[in-house]
Amino acid sequence: MYDYLIVGAGFSGVVLAERLANGAKKKVCIIDKRNHIAGNAYDYYNNDNILVHKFGPHWFHTNNDEVFNYLSNFTEWIEHQHIIKSKVNGKLYDFPINKNTINSFFNVSLTKEEEVKDFIDSKKEFIKNPKNAEEMVLSLLGKELYESFYLNYTIKQWNIHPKELAPSITARIPIRFNNNNSYFNDKYQVMPKIGYTKLFERMLYNKNITLLLNTDFKETFGTIKYNKLIYTGAIDEFFDNCFGELPYRSLKFEHETIDKEYFQECQQINFPNDYSYTRIVEWKHATGQKLNKTSILKEYPVEYQKGLEKFYPIPMAESNERLNKYLVKAKQINNVIFCGRLAEYKYYNMDQVIARSLKLFKDLTSK
Ligand code: FAD
Ligand code: UDP
Repeated sequence: MYDYLIVGAGFSGVVLAERLANGAKKKVCIIDKRNHIAGNAYDYYNNDNILVHKFGPHWFHTNNDEVFNYLSNFTEWIEHQHIIKSKVNGKLYDFPINKNTINSFFNVSLTKEEEVKDFIDSKKEFIKNPKNAEEMVLSLLGKELYESFYLNYTIKQWNIHPKELAPSITARIPIRFNNNNSYFNDKYQVMPKIGYTKLFERMLYNKNITLLLNTDFKETFGTIKYNKLIYTGAIDEFFDNCFGELPYRSLKFEHETIDKEYFQECQQINFPNDYSYTRIVEWKHATGQKLNKTSILKEYPVEYQKGLEKFYPIPMAESNERLNKYLVKAKQINNVIFCGRLAEYKYYNMDQVIARSLKLFKDLTSK
């Protein structure tokens, strides 16, 4: 008999397993239908001994001291500014858009931040409350930058016009009028020195935690005895899609090793307008590995269908009504806690799900 059964060994589930076992001496069983831990953050050394992320680039960034200090109990860090560029009309630009991007794209030579701001003020559209992902960018940067850097990337990524998507999607990307060229604004921009999977192994190292891989919750139903369930899988699946499936976006990954030291100049290059992949990632820039070979990843967005992974919830007004029905139903059942990117159907980053699980642990143990 376990105190808790946790479904899903990604960050949401493993942080709770670790906290409940170490912090509250609870007996925990954690299961995952995949053959590995770490959820979408899973990384491994490939045949060429290069550390790669199986499910796309996972760049760690947070402003949250508690999250950073918590993970620091299990790993040291590689200090690393996450640098990403965007290729438009054959030319590489700093991305997110900053002073360099603006000077280079518009062929101007602005120097002071105020000048850059004034220049963009003359380009941007006056939209008081942006209602969608397109209006969000138009209101901040105007048509030219929107059409070159955002419009086609967004369509490729979601197969939905930005007019139909929530403003929060494009608002994820900072906009700057100085030369800062980091992808994120956060205080901590790091990578775990030991890699994510090893970090997860350390978190799960406790005799009060039983880990079962290749174990689908639906197939084990009733065979594992527990008091409380923590569920981090897709919320619609939990309820057998009784209100219909929620929309998801999936991805296909093309991993490749190349016989030269480096392939490109930074860890990620985005291709808004060309090719059917959105980005090429080169791991060594972020992990600091020194080898003669290099591995890259091309990421292709695809329609979700049975047999593929649900990588992204799709933040759009159209799915809200259905989602709300699931959320109401989830509140009505006792002894089941829904948490995580798929269980809450929220476009969470890693630090956000970790913060959420740490908070849940406090709530569970303060009663
Ligand atoms: P997941 O990691 O999805 O884990 C859920 C687990 O539950 C999975 O392992 C799944 O197999 C398991 N599961 C589901 N259903 C069942 C079932 N019925 N039975 C048993 N097991 C089940 N965040 C960042 O901060 N920085 C980034 O750079 C970043 N890049 C990303 C890139 C991509 C391509 C994607 C898709 C996400 C990215 N993220 C990034 C987000 C990050 O992956 C998530 O925030 C995080 O992984 C969510 O953790 P989770 O535990 O909620 O979900
Ligand atoms: N985006 C874009 N151009 C880019 C990068 C991002 O238009 O070069 C938009 C796009 O809509 C994307 C969103 O910003 O879905 C969020 O991008 P992010 O890099 O945060 O996506 P993730 O890493 O979560 O896939």
